[in-house]
Amino acid sequence: MGDWRRSLAAAIRTPEELWRVLDLPWADLPAAQASAKLFPVLVPRGFAALMRPGDLSDPLLRQVVPLIQEGEESPGFTPDPLAEGDCSPVPGLLHKYAGRALLVTTGACAVHCRYCFRRHFPYEAVSRSGRWWTEAVGHLENSPGIEEVLLSGGDPLTLPDGVLESLCADLESIPHLRRLRIHSRLPIVLPERIDGGFLAFLSRRRLPMVLVVHANHPRELSPEVVTACCRLKAAGVTLLNQSVLLRGINDSADVLVELSKALFEAGVLPYYLHALDRVQGVHHFQRSSSESAAMMAAMAARLPGYLVPKWVREEPGAPGKTVLPW
Ligand SMILES: *Cc1c(COP(=O)(O)O)cnc(C)c1O
Ligand code: SF4
Repeated sequence: MGDWRRSLAAAIRTPEELWRVLDLPWADLPAAQASAKLFPVLVPRGFAALMRPGDLSDPLLRQVVPLIQEGEESPGFTPDPLAEGDCSPVPGLLHKYAGRALLVTTGACAVHCRYCFRRHFPYEAVSRSGRWWTEAVGHLENSPGIEEVLLSGGDPLTLPDGVLESLCADLESIPHLRRLRIHSRLPIVLPERIDGGFLAFLSRRRLPMVLVVHANHPRELSPEVVTACCRLKAAGVTLLNQSVLLRGINDSADVLVELSKALFEAGVLPYYLHALDRVQGVHHFQRSSSESAAMMAAMAARLPGYLVPKWVREEPGAPGKTVLPW
């Protein structure tokens, strides 16, 4: 078992353990225990080590700590706001936008982000074994208009290298594919995943690889994360970042500016800053459109254009992410 798999197996999985490791106020534990029943706690220990002990408002901790508000209902926040059930030609394959299709490779993640729009996703329906992707690959072979496949989830980098290798080799046998893309939070929350085995997997790829990581706050870019990103870049991968604009976590121009600068120094360009998907149980992370627009304007006024992420929202039925005005 690779070291990264041992780290993943040893991740924090209960509120009690999170409270112990970070020395949090015990009076707040019962609320966390209640909300952890809706979506379990999962935090790699290396990621927890970047958080300030004793501080429930720490911006890294806020991303993973269950709060009582998750059990509250709020108008407009629903279990499936993206209506993704409707654009799946084959189970596990989402084809919403021209030229690219998204393959749900696994339901597993290395971290459970409380704001995630997938907290209600019926992953049990896609947990499979063997070459479960045969039907999806067959569909892609017969879809000459699709030139890029996104491996998503869950998080595809929770899969062993051997599975990624067979899957990508099968995808690369489709002549009209021109790019492969991986969406993963592991380089940020479990940077030991970017090991020799994974770099060897990258070196065998026929198609150009894009890796979209997911960091929300500059303090996530620890020296280990920067090293992992530099290795990926040296392996020829195009590195992009997507973030979610989150109340109490990164909702300030100062934080967003510093995030862009730190990403650039790690070889990563900002790609998308997502407006929060209106998923049931996440309303407490929302900022108003006007406040968000003001933050975007303040950020753009201080950065070169290539360090300003596109501020986007996902809207059912739209031909791509909708770029929001500011
Ligand atoms: C977000 C998304 C994509 C990727 O969109 P890009 O704008 O290319 O990053 C592709 N398919 C689905 C279903 C998506 O949700
Ligand atoms: S890693 Fe990504 S898919 Fe997994 S819980 Fe976090 S945001 Fe959601």
